[in-house]
Amino acid sequence: MENLDKFIEGMPKAELHVHVEGTLEPELKFKLAKRNNLDLPYASVEEMRAAYNFDDLPSFLKMYYEGMGVLLVEQDFYDLTYAYLEKARSQNVVYAEIFFDPQAHTTRGISYDTVISGIHRAQMEAQEKLGIKTQLIMCFLRDMTPDSAMEALEQSLPYKDWIIGVGLDSDERNNPPIKFAQVFERARAENYLLTMHCDVDQQNSTTHIWQTLNDIGVDRIDHGVNALEDAALCDEIKNRKLALTVCPISNGYVTDSMKTTEIKAMLEKDIRVTVNSDDPAYFPGYMNENLIATQREAELTRAQVIQLTINAFEGSWLPTADKTAFLQKLDTYVA
Ligand SMILES: [Zn+2]
Repeated sequence: MENLDKFIEGMPKAELHVHVEGTLEPELKFKLAKRNNLDLPYASVEEMRAAYNFDDLPSFLKMYYEGMGVLLVEQDFYDLTYAYLEKARSQNVVYAEIFFDPQAHTTRGISYDTVISGIHRAQMEAQEKLGIKTQLIMCFLRDMTPDSAMEALEQSLPYKDWIIGVGLDSDERNNPPIKFAQVFERARAENYLLTMHCDVDQQNSTTHIWQTLNDIGVDRIDHGVNALEDAALCDEIKNRKLALTVCPISNGYVTDSMKTTEIKAMLEKDIRVTVNSDDPAYFPGYMNENLIATQREAELTRAQVIQLTINAFEGSWLPTADKTAFLQKLDTYVA
């Protein structure tokens, strides 16, 4: 097998599935806790990292929400976002679509404006100083009520120009896509693009994926690996040219494997599959580590690694001219 590590590291890349709150590294957690006069339940960075021993989605989510407690003021959201963008750019990520979870903050008494202003300021500054382009996706927490999601949607409207689309994340168990049909219909009417998490190996996974297609009309699916269990579902995803944003290192923590065999199978079926980092501070590995782990484990060829990156640019929510420019950049690199 070819060693493609250097090739992957140098490649201009796009990331389509990363939760900004999931990029909160223990070092920054300690820094923000100190600045905000908060006590953390861990004595050191090492002790905190050692507690990241999740084995399923709920055990991860508990730590994820607990960690956000250090994010209080606009500067905190700025620092969080800018740190991710610096890291991503150092790995030659040239474009990223970033999720944020406003309800996880507004329910703690932080204003919507505080959250989005800090994130947006970091996005603008990183574009200018680091040359990384980004767009923002607002996720609703599916274990909260549709009314709460609708409230978040209404809060977002004054900031519509800063948000490209909406998504759905958190605990999928007993929280199917159709629970949010009205919220997503309204989001569509407000011209947001639509995506939803279909987490891996959930109860009724394929039923949920069908719902995102038939009842919601999504423009993308986050994860969606279980589509492979249903040939008709694969055909539909392929015909609609929907991107699937798979996150192998994350899957390795919350399911039985990194699902790299499945990623390869989707490539072979011409499904627009992509590789992403999800919550890289918790599932250690940013874009390069995820791509390298996938390539090694599934023994992907150079052409398949390039295809994953083409899929990410083509499946992105960029205007066509921007997609073309990024794909040319990739072409030049490959040549
Ligand atoms: Zn995710």
